[in-house]
Amino acid sequence: MSPGTEIAVRVGAYAVVFAAMALWEWWAPRRKLSAGRGARWPGNLGILAIDIVAVRLLVPTTAVGVALVAAEKGWGVFGQAGLPYWAAVLVGVVALDLAIYLQHVVFHFVPPLWRLHRMHHADVDIDVTTGLRFHPIEILLSLGIKIAVVAALGVPAFAVLVFEVLLNATSMFNHSNVKLPPRLDRIARWIVVTPQMHQVHHSVVRAETDSNFGFNLPWWDRLFGTYRAEPAAGEQGMTVGLPIFRDKAELHIVRLLTQPFRNAITRPAPEKSPQ
Ligand SMILES: [Zn+2]
Ligand SMILES: [Zn+2]
Repeated sequence: MSPGTEIAVRVGAYAVVFAAMALWEWWAPRRKLSAGRGARWPGNLGILAIDIVAVRLLVPTTAVGVALVAAEKGWGVFGQAGLPYWAAVLVGVVALDLAIYLQHVVFHFVPPLWRLHRMHHADVDIDVTTGLRFHPIEILLSLGIKIAVVAALGVPAFAVLVFEVLLNATSMFNHSNVKLPPRLDRIARWIVVTPQMHQVHHSVVRAETDSNFGFNLPWWDRLFGTYRAEPAAGEQGMTVGLPIFRDKAELHIVRLLTQPFRNAITRPAPEKSPQ
């Protein structure tokens, strides 16, 4: 696979899913936005642009590039175990998803990492652009983790590309301000993280923020006991964001970039989970 093919597939899928979700949430929004698109999109999309430039400038390869090298040099557990190609693709995608779930949990509970990740949570609304709003340092660390997993397991390049496209697409889907009909949502939640499921993760209530960590496959939350069906205040009554960084000025791109390094307050103690 040439680098050109990889970029074309990734950018093409990105653009199509972004446009589809932006149209859907404009046509039939699930919740009324409190700050709106005009106030938030320049900052959120600006962060995406900075993330793309940071990765291009600072990382000489992509995870797919590492997979190609790993295959050539015979690195990784999959090769040693003699796993057939189709199984390596399947297990590779699932293993990468588990790694991203675990990374997300760690970013919530290790204070310096939480400082980076909380910028994602400080958005006072959730829509398709929230799914793209991650601090560049978090993006670089996350890429490093993905590359380590790919090299250690010997995940095939095709599986890495599938995973990257899936993760981008599902992140935009599950952050978007759309509503699946409740019956469909209940079934879909067994296959993919839905917008109503991920909304709980953006609740201002700490116990709810620390639930539904999955981005892609919903199984890890159920398996590790971090699944929460809905917020205590209900889908419409739930407040989105964090107790801090709620000022409108915090939507500016410079403030987004500096959030990890400001406001030394620690997170409030965990509340009793509202059951
Ligand atoms: Zn989170
Ligand atoms: Zn999120």
